[in-house]
Amino acid sequence: METSITATPSSAPGGTTEPTSDTTAPSGSETPALTIGLLKESAAGERRVALDPAAVKRLTADGRVVSVESGAGASASFEDAAYTEAGATVVPRKQIIATCTVIPVLRFPDDTLAGALRSGQMLVGLIDPLNHLPGITDLADRGVTAIALELLPRTLSRAQSMDALSSQSSAAGYRAGIVAAAAYGRYLPMMITASGTATPAKAMVIGTGVAGLQAIATLKRLGAVVTGYDVRAASRGEVESLGAKFLTSSVAQGAGKGGYARAMTDAEQTTQRAELAKALLDFDIIITTAKVPGRTPPELVSEATQKSLRSGTVCVDLGSSDKGGNVAGSIDGKTTVTAGGVTIIGAGELASDLPASASQMYGRNVIAVIASLAPANLVVIDTTDEVHKNIVVSYDGTITNAAVRTALQLDALPAEPEASKVKAS
Ligand code: NAD
Repeated sequence: METSITATPSSAPGGTTEPTSDTTAPSGSETPALTIGLLKESAAGERRVALDPAAVKRLTADGRVVSVESGAGASASFEDAAYTEAGATVVPRKQIIATCTVIPVLRFPDDTLAGALRSGQMLVGLIDPLNHLPGITDLADRGVTAIALELLPRTLSRAQSMDALSSQSSAAGYRAGIVAAAAYGRYLPMMITASGTATPAKAMVIGTGVAGLQAIATLKRLGAVVTGYDVRAASRGEVESLGAKFLTSSVAQGAGKGGYARAMTDAEQTTQRAELAKALLDFDIIITTAKVPGRTPPELVSEATQKSLRSGTVCVDLGSSDKGGNVAGSIDGKTTVTAGGVTIIGAGELASDLPASASQMYGRNVIAVIASLAPANLVVIDTTDEVHKNIVVSYDGTITNAAVRTALQLDALPAEPEASKVKAS
């Protein structure tokens, strides 16, 4: 069914909510524009911003009203002046939170922002609802429309411009190659000089999805000899097309729903760790990107394996988070060196290390999402639309996404009968 939310947040006092669905848009000149509020990200170390000035220019050219917090883009080198030139107005943070209808973000908001959002407002971002179940429940209870970009059906061709997971994984994978090269104390390419010859570095990329393929391409450009490894046998062709070797896994039947890897059984994990322990001894650089959506990442480089790696080996763990990572002992955002001289770089949010490019791509994704959910000055959610059905986690006080409902152990919502489709006016 289609439903709509009005363009202005309700100002009900005391945290009470007002119904948001099936309301009609105010008409004519009284209709307030759908306002988009760009805030500075508050997570420690986060340098990206949800819209770059070019994205704001496209939005304002489309008649959208954009308010920007002063300094919102500073850590990505986007000055306030660039946003005002793009047609935005610089407005205090509190005012943006109180008045804007659409708040695009990179990550799940901090408690202050989440606690201030209310009915009639729409939060859009990589908000990772499966790992923020209490927070998402609270937002839903307060009538906030929450949009989670990681739940996008990515294989749908019309969804590709909205695919923030891919745009940010691309940035992270590229950066992982650079970070690994910078931390490695030797040349990456073969060097033949009057002072001697250097053999090329051998790099292994575990998990050859979007980030892994970018890491492979970057390491190849830098001259390393690269091998890719994945449990999805289908990735062999993609790895080899980049000129890298592919290591076959004996658990290479690991493809699951939607092209993602499925979670390995305990026995498969043991087999995999054992085969990797042997294979990794030969590598100087190891980049891991293996994630399984909504779950703790699999540990692929164990402590025992690290002990057998050569001193000087560099591991960059893109799977690192507060839940652990692919490399045992990796700490997200930190670099550690083992007693055996192996450098472990916890890099779960590495796209933030390439803030201008990553924000530029993310801004394009946000524009596409806004165009889909709010083609005019009204947010219109069509629960029969494949994109909306997946990315809309909550609206009208209800958690609507099936995966999030399952994680919260809520009963499935009844299917919408075709006949009940209502066109929002
Ligand atoms: P991801 O971030 O979820 O995981 C990264 C990689 O790690 C994946 O290749 C996965 O197979 C691998 N992995 C997971 N567990 C592993 C394990 N135990 N051992 C070894 N490798 C493991 O993946 P992603 O980059 O988001 O891509 C997931 C899938 O979606 C891929 O098949 C990708 O091609 C596909 N995709 C399709 C589109 C599209 O059709 N437009 C867009 C983006 C991604």
